[in-house]
Amino acid sequence: MPIVNAMEMLHKATRDGYAVGAFNVTSIVQMLAAVDEAVARRAPVIIQTSVAPSKFLTPALFVAAFRAAAADALVPVCLHLDHCTEVEHCKRCADAGYTNIMIDASAGELEENIRQTREVVQYVHAGSAASVEGELGRVGGVEDEVSVDDEAARLCDPDSAVRFVRETGVDIFAPAIGTAHGVYRTADPRVDFDRFARIRERLAREGLDVPLVVHGGTGLPEKTVRRLVALGGAKFNVSTELKHTLIDATRNYIAAHPDEYNPGRLDTALREATRRTVGHWMEILGSPGRA
Ligand code: 13P
Repeated sequence: MPIVNAMEMLHKATRDGYAVGAFNVTSIVQMLAAVDEAVARRAPVIIQTSVAPSKFLTPALFVAAFRAAAADALVPVCLHLDHCTEVEHCKRCADAGYTNIMIDASAGELEENIRQTREVVQYVHAGSAASVEGELGRVGGVEDEVSVDDEAARLCDPDSAVRFVRETGVDIFAPAIGTAHGVYRTADPRVDFDRFARIRERLAREGLDVPLVVHGGTGLPEKTVRRLVALGGAKFNVSTELKHTLIDATRNYIAAHPDEYNPGRLDTALREATRRTVGHWMEILGSPGRA
């Protein structure tokens, strides 16, 4: 069954020591490219939309495109709503057919984060087969409508992580460990590997079996990505790099073909460029051949 929630594919990734690429898309061309690349490499894949594109193109349109793209894929494909700070929009997307929902209530105090995340978990689990991702600590940088400056960014506390996962019932957990959205200002960003390992250990010791998510994939050195995967990162989010791929490929194509007015050829160029970026990430994450 190609259309799935994120649970089984991420538990399998955790068990077998690789990660599933989760790629933010704003267009159907990018979505098709990610699915095509997943099929070509026999890799499970997560397609993500941030909140703004999900509102612009509407959840119904994204879900229809996802279902059509994934129907014959023969690899597990999940449609994830990324960093949604509005409980009602989370519910709307779950009702429309997204198969994984991220409620991001990490801006609030722990109690409020737990309350909102639990509300989404209960609603989504009652009405659909979708899974739910929650975040604790605050991932810095800019992702769509969520902008977190250095002072507001907070790392995840392992004890609070246990409480958060237990009390919310989230299926997938994103602890903030120093990675950030957008382009890093340094070539070797400071990532708290020990904290990530401690969080995983603490959760396992308490019998809380949740796959872990790493945000802020763009710009991380390959060795950092591989180390985080080895420590149990099962879902790896990549957004900014795909935006750059899209805009750069568009500019390059138009510069190389200034007299051409054929959108189909431009779409083909964008699809190929997106496939290359997605395929490169899949190789680093170790997901090819796993589906
Ligand atoms: P980047 O934009 O840094 O790749 O981060 C992606 C992400 O974490 C989306 O949730």
